[in-house]
Amino acid sequence: MLDKIVIANRGEIALRILRACREMGIRTVAVHSEADRDLKHVLMADEAVCIGPAPSSDSYLNIPAIISAAEVTDAVAIHPGYGFLSENADFAERVMQSGFIFIGPRPDTIRLMGDKICAKEAMQRAGIPCVPGSDGPLGDDYMENLKLAKEIGFPVIIKAAGGGGGRGMRVVHSEAALINAITMTKAEASSAFGNDQVYMEKFLERPRHIEFQILADSHGNAIHLGERDCSMQRRHQKVLEEAPAPGLTEEQRREIGERCAQACQEIGYLGAGTFEFLYEDGEFYFIEMNTRLQVEHPVTEMVTGVDLVKEQIRIAAGEAMSYTQEDIVMRGHAIECRINAEDPDNFMPSPGLIEQLHLPGGPGIRVDTHIYAGYKVPPFYDSMIGKLIAQGETRSCALARMRTALNETIITGIKCNIPLLSRIISDSGFKAGGQHIHYLEDMLGMRE
Ligand code: ADP
Repeated sequence: MLDKIVIANRGEIALRILRACREMGIRTVAVHSEADRDLKHVLMADEAVCIGPAPSSDSYLNIPAIISAAEVTDAVAIHPGYGFLSENADFAERVMQSGFIFIGPRPDTIRLMGDKICAKEAMQRAGIPCVPGSDGPLGDDYMENLKLAKEIGFPVIIKAAGGGGGRGMRVVHSEAALINAITMTKAEASSAFGNDQVYMEKFLERPRHIEFQILADSHGNAIHLGERDCSMQRRHQKVLEEAPAPGLTEEQRREIGERCAQACQEIGYLGAGTFEFLYEDGEFYFIEMNTRLQVEHPVTEMVTGVDLVKEQIRIAAGEAMSYTQEDIVMRGHAIECRINAEDPDNFMPSPGLIEQLHLPGGPGIRVDTHIYAGYKVPPFYDSMIGKLIAQGETRSCALARMRTALNETIITGIKCNIPLLSRIISDSGFKAGGQHIHYLEDMLGMRE
């Protein structure tokens, strides 16, 4: 087994990785910015190395500093977590060239999936259903693009090949708006992602977001661990996730899940990954693959009993994964709420000192968070400060546990979105299950 791992991330996910390492008897190195000396996992790690000033570009995205930290501490592997460098193929390559194990897929796979146009083509070849749209990137010929949009049917969505994090997308409702939308998305994509290629897709009006978790090892085994429903979104950002997806049949789960696992074998995928789909009128449409651990991975862990981080580490060490497809049984239901340090009314970030903290407990409750009373949430990073996960034999049991857990949670000193999460949990439409991706924005009165 791996002897020592560098955790190249921060916050709750860094702590989550540290805990998996501890259980496996693996030593840990926390690499952190100057603003993060007081992070819980930094205080807990076997070793800690400061890799630069607060801004991510100088620390958590500083590739030479992270690799040097691995060198000076004699680590053997690097876990990138999610966000930051987790889907950066150049980073994975540099890690491997420097003689370390990258805990994730091969750089070529990351590169392939990082270009959404190439990813879609690869998935189409592997028999995964995709959203109808352009074959490859859009050219400069306006008449051609207009013809294509009419064939697909308005509304269409223009998406950047290199886009991510909900950025680089534009919905077009009419012919008149098309040319401008393409030009603007291209310009944005070029400055934000260094790649001005854009493509066109049918804009699905009221789809659900359903994603499949997979694991694949270097011995040719690939399995799926069922799906998550992440339709509760605000500005394309997930707010609350659950597993399984309400209303999905065992047959649908098996069919799509097996196709995803097969696609992984075809492309030689390694590690944990997620196939994201939009789901409308009983049909699945692939939109992208995430080549890393997801924020919402705990809901899958809660219903399958599989520790995804430990499996990632085993796979990276060259071992076969611990499960076959037959071993994977989804039991009960799990819901995750993302707790953000933000104003629940206007969504402005609310960093600062946490004065009091009371976390919930009881049957089926899991809290993944790095915060503690006396901890100061820095203003430099993502506002997510933790995740609350509730599991139960049924969805209504999981919902009841989540409602109780949210009520029980007390965080003072900063503002957080718990009132919003409580509102969603008590909403009759959400309670019914199976809502589309615009449901939350409609509920908040945000949609024009
Ligand atoms: P990102 O990598 O930025 O997360 P995705 O391709 O995963 O981009 O899309 C993010 C979100 O944008 C989806 O969850 C969905 O809400 C919306 N979206 C993307 N493509 C479409 C589409 N063809 N029709 C409708 N909504 C879409």
